[in-house]
Amino acid sequence: MKTILIKGGHLIDPPSRTDRPRDLLIRDNRIVELGDPGKLSAAAKKEGAEVIDASGLIVAPGLVDIHVHLREPGQGHKETIESGTKAAAMGGFTALCCMPNTSPVNDSPEVTRWMLSPERKAHIRVFPVAAATRGSMGDTITEYGSLKAAGAVGFSDDGKPVLQDAVMHQALIAAARAGVPMIQHAENTKITVGASMNAGARAFRLGLRGMSIEAESGIVERDIRLVRELTTGGKGPRPHLHVQHVSTAKAMEAIRQAKRAGLHVTCEVAPHHFMLTDEAVEGYNTHAKMNPPLRSEEDRAAMVTALLDGTADCIATDHAPHAVHEKEQEFEKAPNGITGIETSLSLSIKMLHHQHRMPLLRLMHLMSTAPAHIMGLRGRGTLAPEAFADVVLFDPKSTWTFDARKSPSKSRNTPFDGQTLPGVVKMTISEGRVVYKS
Ligand SMILES: [Zn+2]
Repeated sequence: MKTILIKGGHLIDPPSRTDRPRDLLIRDNRIVELGDPGKLSAAAKKEGAEVIDASGLIVAPGLVDIHVHLREPGQGHKETIESGTKAAAMGGFTALCCMPNTSPVNDSPEVTRWMLSPERKAHIRVFPVAAATRGSMGDTITEYGSLKAAGAVGFSDDGKPVLQDAVMHQALIAAARAGVPMIQHAENTKITVGASMNAGARAFRLGLRGMSIEAESGIVERDIRLVRELTTGGKGPRPHLHVQHVSTAKAMEAIRQAKRAGLHVTCEVAPHHFMLTDEAVEGYNTHAKMNPPLRSEEDRAAMVTALLDGTADCIATDHAPHAVHEKEQEFEKAPNGITGIETSLSLSIKMLHHQHRMPLLRLMHLMSTAPAHIMGLRGRGTLAPEAFADVVLFDPKSTWTFDARKSPSKSRNTPFDGQTLPGVVKMTISEGRVVYKS
């Protein structure tokens, strides 16, 4: 039995609205007790606890990223479960959901179990999202019951969205029966063929084919319509649609209306979509090439507003590692995606807390409590007694300079390399084990 006392810190726990100095006692993999400063010291001493001094630091539930590409099986040169989870621990994360677009695609219990095997040497807890359709081909839904039994926490075809109405209808029902969200990367890929950035004047000038706003909002609106039909007319369990990385004001407005109508629709925003616009593509910068693409200033501002007013439920990175030689191609040929798990907390502090005065309690809700709740990760996203001892200690005031070459991630395709950012992660504890210390 191992006991840890974290003392002297400022504790933030969104579910209990705790936002004040509190000490925290951990035993083995669980949280035991929270107490006023100094109150737990006697008990900790009796148990021979390891004492961690958190003076000047925020002590919060470990961050949860529900949209990460770990590239295993199949593309270990970009990332492995071991390297990706090590980078995540450095970013303050204690749990993540990994996407199924691996090779082979995670559409079977065998692949799900392979990802969860201790041989993958994950540093933090990994929760696989399984493919919504066989091979992510969009035609036949996978076996949700057996995939869930193997450990899948949701279903998505990610970069290959489910386009056929009938298949999406079936997927929403099957996911609801399994008690998990149906997760959609909203893009009408029929109208984005060959497109590599946001549609508009800049794409025209750069001579690149653009992705229209409607390619995203059209699928979001279609999915919401299906959810509404199933919710009002259906006999089965209530479907839960989760929209991945929303990038347009138009799609966000559709989600806002769906929520007002009482539908179970949730969504995430990626840090790059609230930090950057398509201006970053100038010079054909492949580190600004991602899908959905960086949009206009109006869209970027709408993502911030949605995070502030609660329309956006959580922050997720879409951490998408690619090797240097893959990104060092001409813009249209380079793969989509940037890494993000190392900088998510700092970028969120910079934009939301510093620039828009979002309280840290609310930020921790968006980065830990809400994502854990959306994916049904019980005992996470909270520091309540008996929860898993997933804890992050960080200094929101001091700054650091991100050097992508020093990241444990195998890739360094990020537009934020070399930037000095606020918010330094000092320690990450995953189920009672210290998995990162700076
Ligand atoms: Zn993705």
